[in-house]
Amino acid sequence: MFGGDDRYAEARRRMVEEIVAMALEPGGYTPRPISEKVLSVMKKVPRHRFISEGSIYAAYYNRPFSIGHGQTISQPYIVALMTDLLALDKQDSVLEVGTGSGYQSAVLAEMAGKVYSMEIIEPLAARAAKLLGELGYANIQLKLGDGSKGWPEYAPFDGIIVTAAADHMPQPLVDQLKPGGRMVIPVGSWQYAQELILITKDQDGMIRQENVLPVSFVPLTGRY
Ligand code: SAM
Repeated sequence: MFGGDDRYAEARRRMVEEIVAMALEPGGYTPRPISEKVLSVMKKVPRHRFISEGSIYAAYYNRPFSIGHGQTISQPYIVALMTDLLALDKQDSVLEVGTGSGYQSAVLAEMAGKVYSMEIIEPLAARAAKLLGELGYANIQLKLGDGSKGWPEYAPFDGIIVTAAADHMPQPLVDQLKPGGRMVIPVGSWQYAQELILITKDQDGMIRQENVLPVSFVPLTGRY
């Protein structure tokens, strides 16, 4: 799928080692080892393609990075953690709110059957569509628009991932989760007071909420 470009395989392997170490010692918070399934996807997806050419040196640092338009590609550890929390299967359908660079979409596409991803900033949506097409991801469907209200046409979803911080829990997204489904979302009203939250919906539609980790994301815009 990636045209045999393996120049960065060693850098990816080292990035994954850092993810493993951070998952075991997340600065005083509960350790959550990342599954082998997710780690092997992180070893495979070419993160350097999702970063501008002038910044490729930083592609495999375990850090977030600017992608322009005031937005970021998330830290690899956070991408791995959020993906793992969704516990996806190959048959699952997943909604991503905040396509950004398209990197997280690619990681999800390796884990799930179908990925629906929405981005509100037009140039980012266009760039991600072009790149994911070039990389051969046929199971990702992208849409330009406000994802805070979800994508009712394809709901309900087995998993929902929101990659921007909401100042309150968007009810339309909770409603679009299947019974048995999981959602990961940063919630908080300002940059340094956000919590990554895992929502699980049981077979009777009961919601359980777990605070996973303090995080720092760009804000979720839109009307919800
Ligand atoms: N998942 C991305 C990646 O792998 O590059 C990271 C995305 S960045 C941290 C968050 C993205 O959410 C930004 O591109 C931003 O424009 C987008 N966003 C913010 N509010 C949104 C909304 N209401 N609907 C869709 N996208 C939104």
